Amino acid sequence: MIVVFLGPPGAGKGTQAAYISAKRDIPQLSTGDMLRAAIAAGSDVGRQAKAIIDRGDLVSDEIVAGIVSERIDMSDCESGFLLDGFPRTIEQAHMLDRILAGKGRDISCVLELVVDEGALVDRLNSRISDAKARGDEVRSDDNVETFQKRLGVYQEQTAPLVPFYEGKGVLKKIDGMQPVEVVSADIDRILDEC
Ligand code: AMP
Repeated sequence: MIVVFLGPPGAGKGTQAAYISAKRDIPQLSTGDMLRAAIAAGSDVGRQAKAIIDRGDLVSDEIVAGIVSERIDMSDCESGFLLDGFPRTIEQAHMLDRILAGKGRDISCVLELVVDEGALVDRLNSRISDAKARGDEVRSDDNVETFQKRLGVYQEQTAPLVPFYEGKGVLKKIDGMQPVEVVSADIDRILDEC
């Protein structure tokens, strides 16, 4: 099963992707996590990505498609995987189609977490205070200014993926404003039919 998660920053993609990954025993491939790992490792990709991520822009399509393509060749992706944060542009969606076609695979389902964007800044602020309360490091792009930028980038570059996948007949919408467990249950029901 190959699942793509769509939704603006702060919609809860990461949380739900982690739940589904554990429940269905398929890896969660978060391009944001992979890029942050590359930054922490001080690799070439990490050096190129750091400033771009910190200002809330998108890293180049080629870089992210390259890391995803390599990652899905790993053996733990054989029975499926969840893409969290990729694709984020129409060009990346075309790249993903080509990557999967080259491996004889196909997307099973695209889940869109639909949220009230006005509520997202409140969610961000509680994410920051929760992280601080746990003593965790706050992500360098988790601040209101960068967040607004990421939201604008989402509306401009990623939201067009909704009609793109609707046209392919694989898009499923989920009300992401419900309590976390209800969103998870809705996703479970949808995936049972994918
Ligand atoms: P995320 O953890 O998904 O919120 O991603 C954090 C940041 O990583 C984004 O704001 C982008 O700068 C970068 N990033 C993650 N995924 C992608 C992608 N598919 N394409 C381009 N940039 C990405």
